[in-house]
Amino acid sequence: MKKGDAICPRCGAGFRRLELSSIKGTGGQFRCPVCDFVLEAFDGSTQVAYRLTIVPSRILD
Ligand SMILES: [Zn+2]
Repeated sequence: MKKGDAICPRCGAGFRRLELSSIKGTGGQFRCPVCDFVLEAFDGSTQVAYRLTIVPSRILD
């Protein structure tokens, strides 16, 4: 399992990213739940999960 951190470049929200390379996931996109920015597009070859860890102090309109 790969672990990493990601920051939304638009609103500054922080995420913990987990990738399970032994499990097939579903294709699609992960969008920032705060500002809807597309943080990553998945091809479905691995299972990727994001968890919000840092809520930005300023919520964009
Ligand atoms: Zn964001």
